[in-house]
Amino acid sequence: MKLLSVIVPCYNEEENVADFYEELMKTEEFFKGKDVDFEIIYIDDGSKDGTAKEVHKLIDRDNRVHFVSFSRNFGKEAAIYAGLQHAKGDYVVMLDADLQDPPALLPQMYSYIVNEGYDSVATRRVDRKGEPPIRSFFARRFYHLINKMSKTEIVDGARDYRLMTRRFVDAILSMEEYNRFSKGIFGWVGFDTKWIEFENIERKKGETKWSFWKLFIYAIDGIIAFSTVPLAIASIIGTLFCAIAFVGILFILIRSLFWQDPTSGWPSMVCIIMLVSGVQLFCLGVVGQYLSKTYLEVKKRPMYLVKEDI
Ligand code: UDP
Ligand code: MG
Repeated sequence: MKLLSVIVPCYNEEENVADFYEELMKTEEFFKGKDVDFEIIYIDDGSKDGTAKEVHKLIDRDNRVHFVSFSRNFGKEAAIYAGLQHAKGDYVVMLDADLQDPPALLPQMYSYIVNEGYDSVATRRVDRKGEPPIRSFFARRFYHLINKMSKTEIVDGARDYRLMTRRFVDAILSMEEYNRFSKGIFGWVGFDTKWIEFENIERKKGETKWSFWKLFIYAIDGIIAFSTVPLAIASIIGTLFCAIAFVGILFILIRSLFWQDPTSGWPSMVCIIMLVSGVQLFCLGVVGQYLSKTYLEVKKRPMYLVKEDI
C-alpha cells in the first residue's frame, strides 16, 4: 500500500474545508483501485474564522484527516513548507482549499508519475479569466522580467498545485531558506516535471487573500530570492554616471581654461545633483533589499510556530 499526502493550506477558509473534502473524495475510488491510501493535512495558517472547527468535524468522521495550526498567520509559503514537513506519503500533492485547483485532475497527474516516471507533475492555468486586467498586466510583466533576470525558469500561470514523489519533496525540504518563493524553488531543484494545463476556475466561496500590494511585495521577494541582477544593474548605473561625469568635467575644465568661459547656470546644476543623488538612493535601496533579506536569513527564526498538531 502506498500513501498519498494531500496538503491543504487554509487561511480563513471555513466555507471551503468541507467542500474540498467532498471534492477530493470523488477521486477516492480511483486511488483505492491503485492501492493508494490518503492522508489529508489541513494547515491552518492562523485563521480567525471557523476553519479549525470545520476541520475538527472532519477529523471526527475520518481518521485520515490531520490538522496543523499556526500560532498566527505566517503566509502561504510557510504553510506549504509545514505541509511538506508533516507529509509522510510516498507521493505528496498540495492544493488550494478554495477548489481553484481541481482535485479531479489527480488521477491523470498520478498516472504521469507512475507510468511515465516523472518526479513532479505541475499545473498551469492557460488563461486569467476573472482576474482584474491590471493584475493580469502586471503579472505578465513580472514573469517576463524575472525570467530575464533569473537562471531558474519561473513559468507564467503556474499554480502551486503539484504532485511530487518523495525524492522531489525531500529536495525541496533540503532548501531551508527563510524567504521562500516556491515558484522558483520548484524549478531550482530540477528533476523531470510534466506540465498539464487547465482553464482558470474562479473562487466560489470566500475571498482571495492576495491584495495587489501583497502580490507586489511577493514579486519583489521572488526577484531578490532568485536573481542578483538588480545588484549588477546598480553597479552598471554607477559606472555609467561616473563616465558621464568624467566627460563633463573635462569639457567644463577645457572650456574655462582655454576660452575663459566660467560655467554658469545653477538650475542645471541642481537638476544634476538631484538626479545623481536619486540614482544613488535607488542603488542603495537595491543593496538594502538584499541586505534585509540576508538579515532575516541570518536570524534563523523558525518559519512557523505550531499551535495544534492533530
Ligand atoms: N493561504 C494561506 N495563507 C495566506 C494566504 C493564503 O494559507 O496567508 C491559502 C488560502 O487559504 C488558499 C491558498 O493559500 O487555500 C491560495 O490563496 P488564495 O485563494 O487567496 O489566492 P489566489 O487563488 O487568489 O491567488
Ligand atoms: Mg484562490
